[in-house]
Amino acid sequence: MPGTPYAFFKGEFMPLAEAKIGIMTHAFNYGTAVFEGIRANWNADQQQLYLFRALEHFQRLRKSAHILMMEIDYADEQLVAITHELLRKAAFREDMYVRPMVYKSQEVLGVRLHDVEQDLLIYTAPFGAYLDIDKGIRCCTSSWRRAEDTAIPVRAKVNGVYVNSALAKTEAFQRGYEEAILLNEDGHVSEGSGENIFLVMNGKLYTPPSADNILVGITRAAVIELARAELGLEVLEAPIDRSELYVADELFMTGTAAHVTPVLEVDGRAIGSGGIGPVTAKLQELYFGAALGRLPQYERWIQPLYTDQPVRA
Ligand code: PMP
Repeated sequence: MPGTPYAFFKGEFMPLAEAKIGIMTHAFNYGTAVFEGIRANWNADQQQLYLFRALEHFQRLRKSAHILMMEIDYADEQLVAITHELLRKAAFREDMYVRPMVYKSQEVLGVRLHDVEQDLLIYTAPFGAYLDIDKGIRCCTSSWRRAEDTAIPVRAKVNGVYVNSALAKTEAFQRGYEEAILLNEDGHVSEGSGENIFLVMNGKLYTPPSADNILVGITRAAVIELARAELGLEVLEAPIDRSELYVADELFMTGTAAHVTPVLEVDGRAIGSGGIGPVTAKLQELYFGAALGRLPQYERWIQPLYTDQPVRA
């Protein structure tokens, strides 16, 4: 039986098609909302759906909301439990995406953060591959710069910030590339339109620090942990110049949608051998091993959804 996309909206569960907002909604007019993207990954061998690091996503949602002066009434564990119920009601047997959002829900005019009612919603729908994780992708450096913390804080996953990402993504697409790499105003490499970026250089892993205008990714944290613990690699958070991308041994992107995506080319220059590098391949394997419940030592990152066992938060 195929599943049904579901929403938790105004405190109730309902089919996604029934969850609607009015056209005067503050968040729709001014981008005053924060969101998350969480994946639940389908393991066909085990006939099991595994929710990935949901607690960490809700912790980040709370921080994002706080920056926009919104506090969440539910505890993180409650939000995880709601997500479980939502996915069980939706009852798909394939890869799923979960989209929580805290938004200025009042139908009122006037640009501000204060004195506007807020609400929380979560919806879920099927979501397969976002980028070609098997073949790898080609990227360009964007002519758009990553938004600065002095303009819009990108450490908060603010809906309105994604205009910055959309400009870069479409520019890349129009130029024949699959993804954009944005520099910050200092000229340092920041991140992809929806992904963090990693370089392999002389056997070490490098990734831009939080201060270079990145969203501090949950997949990024997972990959850093896997690289250190499983591969014994040194991982450095350090500023990266554009030309360092061209001479890296390997390059890859990480994100909830992107998983671990190899980058084979930047601005017309092949990276390393031009194929998927050995470190990238190992990290991809470890990441999917963890996400699909094949690595017992990383069971703390995932939650199986199709069981009769009580929900673990
Ligand atoms: N940067 C941006 C701009 C993103 O939108 C995302 C996706 N949420 C990421 C990085 C990766 O973050 P995560 O691994 O937590 O999904």
